[in-house]
Amino acid sequence: MHFYIMTLFPEMVMQGLDTSIIGRAMSKGLLSIEAVNIRDYAFNKHNSVDDYPYGGGAGMLMQAEPVYQAYEAVMNKISSGESAPAPGDTAGSKRKRPRVIYLSPQGKTFHQDMAEELAEEEELIFLCGHYEGIDERVLEEIVTDYVSIGDYVVTGGELPAMIMVDAISRLVPGVLHNDVSAEFESFQDNLLEYPQYSRPEIWHGKQVPEVLLSGHHANVEKWRREQSVIRTARLRPDLLEKAELSEKEREIAKRFQKL
Ligand code: SAM
Repeated sequence: MHFYIMTLFPEMVMQGLDTSIIGRAMSKGLLSIEAVNIRDYAFNKHNSVDDYPYGGGAGMLMQAEPVYQAYEAVMNKISSGESAPAPGDTAGSKRKRPRVIYLSPQGKTFHQDMAEELAEEEELIFLCGHYEGIDERVLEEIVTDYVSIGDYVVTGGELPAMIMVDAISRLVPGVLHNDVSAEFESFQDNLLEYPQYSRPEIWHGKQVPEVLLSGHHANVEKWRREQSVIRTARLRPDLLEKAELSEKEREIAKRFQKL
């Protein structure tokens, strides 16, 4: 999987992502992440990439041309096959046009299903805005998806891009040590994950639930499922509308939603 992040702050993005699990996956060649500095495509002697918005208003706007040139450079790289192929990637240069995601508070809100869908792509290009955003005309030409990380405004698209790259990367086969750890997690089946415990068996006088020490796999699974339903009912009842629950689970959920 190859990620290209078009940004004015490449160090921020690379330093944030080149650590821990994602950093290891990069070293193993399971992922590649390249930050493309939009400022390298500035076309004036001051190296500036922003200007005042027509019609007035506070703040500056990123200009269309440097963003477009950075995009063209990424596309040339992709079509010349410069990015190292991911394991099992035989599609080569015949690949479809990669999706270009503009991080924007005006976009569709990012969620786990979207991460799963995007994890199927060979390449993804992220475009990070800054200041008041980006000249609309270049967005119209290159962007395929507008994605927000939530209904609030942050200063730039870098943190949102890092969040998306992290969430998508951990779904790429081999990135997590144990593929099972991505198997049941919060939001799968529209439920939150059950509570988890590790050693010691008693901590601050609190005992690990007996069933988890029983070694009885089926009972553990039953307990976990029920706990997921209870937790979702308490913390995120909105998710339950789309969850597939048995009659008994619906009753449990109703009981805990009222508490
Ligand atoms: N003037 C813009 C508006 O009101 O929609 C907000 C610009 S914001 C200060 C600068 C950049 O941060 C945006 O171009 C976008 O790339 C990024 N950004 C801010 N909030 C975001 C969010 N919730 N999700 C994704 N990106 C966001």
